[in-house]
Amino acid sequence: MKKVIIRKTEDLENWRRNIKSEINFIPTMGNLHNGHIKLISTAKNENSNINLVSIFINPLQFDNKLDLENYPKTIDNDIKIAFSNGADAIFIPSDEDIYPPNNKNIKFLKASIELSSALCGLNRIGHFDGVCTVVYRLINLIKPKNLYLGEKDWQQLLILKDLVLRKKLNVAIKSIPTQRDFDGIPLSSRNVNLSKNDRKLIRFFSSELLEAKKNFQQDKKINLNEITKKLSAKKITIEYLELLHPHTLQKASLEDNISLLAGAIRCGETRLIDHVFLMKRRPIIAIDGPAGSGKSTVTKLIAKKLKLLYLDTGAMYRALSWLILKENIDYKKEKNLQNILKDISIVFKPNTNSHQDVYVNNCCVTEEIRSQKISSIVSKISSIKEVRKFLVEEQRKIGESGGLVAEGRDIGTTVFPHAELKIFLTASIDERAKRRKSDKNSKDSQEIDLHTLKELIKIRDFEDSNREISPLIKANDAIEIITDGYSINEVVDKIIDLYNDKIPKESEIK
Ligand code: C5P
Repeated sequence: MKKVIIRKTEDLENWRRNIKSEINFIPTMGNLHNGHIKLISTAKNENSNINLVSIFINPLQFDNKLDLENYPKTIDNDIKIAFSNGADAIFIPSDEDIYPPNNKNIKFLKASIELSSALCGLNRIGHFDGVCTVVYRLINLIKPKNLYLGEKDWQQLLILKDLVLRKKLNVAIKSIPTQRDFDGIPLSSRNVNLSKNDRKLIRFFSSELLEAKKNFQQDKKINLNEITKKLSAKKITIEYLELLHPHTLQKASLEDNISLLAGAIRCGETRLIDHVFLMKRRPIIAIDGPAGSGKSTVTKLIAKKLKLLYLDTGAMYRALSWLILKENIDYKKEKNLQNILKDISIVFKPNTNSHQDVYVNNCCVTEEIRSQKISSIVSKISSIKEVRKFLVEEQRKIGESGGLVAEGRDIGTTVFPHAELKIFLTASIDERAKRRKSDKNSKDSQEIDLHTLKELIKIRDFEDSNREISPLIKANDAIEIITDGYSINEVVDKIIDLYNDKIPKESEIK
């Protein structure tokens, strides 16, 4: 495709009409650096859409005239950088193109009050309204499928996600982690205006934040006063330094697994922001739902794609049921149950099919636990208080340091109530019975007629949903996905999008 530079909104609209493929949109204010390059190249490598980069210094988002005048302008170099790193088209409009005088169609928007009343919003009055206005205008002109933004401006990212939701814009926001320069400071177009001394101070500020993140990983503690004291001792003017919830930007609570440590400092005329995410453990995804909802297939694929540990808690209840049946134990007698729980070992081991095998006391039971015989007794065994207490503890041990996706019935409500993402996966009873019937891992189900299978699933649903302890219910904060009519890949992609939306890319513990 021929690379184009578009300067007028009419030309952009003409060009857009003739473009058949979807568009990745990368908005910038120019003076492109490696952060922008990463955005452009990520978009290029992620899909075969057309990459459109805009370069527009939006006057509406400057609360300081001098800052606008001093903003670096390097257009010729920007064009070269954008094209050589994956841009197919560059849009360079003038102020009049974006904000035609007397045009009543231009909407001047307000950013979310909740999100813009914290951090930078407190001192940069009107800044985020200006950002929302220009991005809304550009999205309406360009109609992109994806919008690529950097996590460096985390608050801006949240505000734009909120805008997309509120205005029901049909665009997916993709983010990339903060890109840092050789000395650790976040890349920013304004960095060229820094004096040698300013740069030294910023390096100190960023290194304090990165150090706090490292220490937090070890001892799970943070002392904001100490950091403030160190910065003040270097005569760094702190505008704010706060520990917040990463999505609401309200004060962080002790319960939060991920929190945002964000700061802004002033060096002479220049103001710089930086942040890190503090994480107690790696993220957890909880996937609950009834039998046959597609949990196992979906959960395994998510684990593979996101490189998370896969935990099938149903297999643990089945494994215990298998042993009870095999040893012919009267599990209703407490003493018998105690004995079996005292000695049982349930272990998952990866197998050659890149799946997992389940071992009970060193005996591989992967296939046997899927039999109808086990399916018909497992709900009764899993409703016993001692059984649940024992297996929930085992599951929590496995998930102690996070980094896993667990499926079951009570993951979001009981096992991992603080999971970052909770999904309640379900489907109609007809659909679930059909799926079980064609499930190659469940040989017995293939031999039972569809009607009987449906009745058996209904019984299990009833038992799981009506037991006294940890019944199958949707957690208040779980997102329900009804999978009828959706392919496995569509469901997997939807959950991965939700995960990416919740978990900052740069929060990963390396
Ligand atoms: O998911 P699967 O069908 O293998 O689960 C088997 C049974 O194990 C469920 O019907 C339920 O009775 C029990 N179970 C549970 N809590 C979980 C997972 C499974 O009670 N977290």
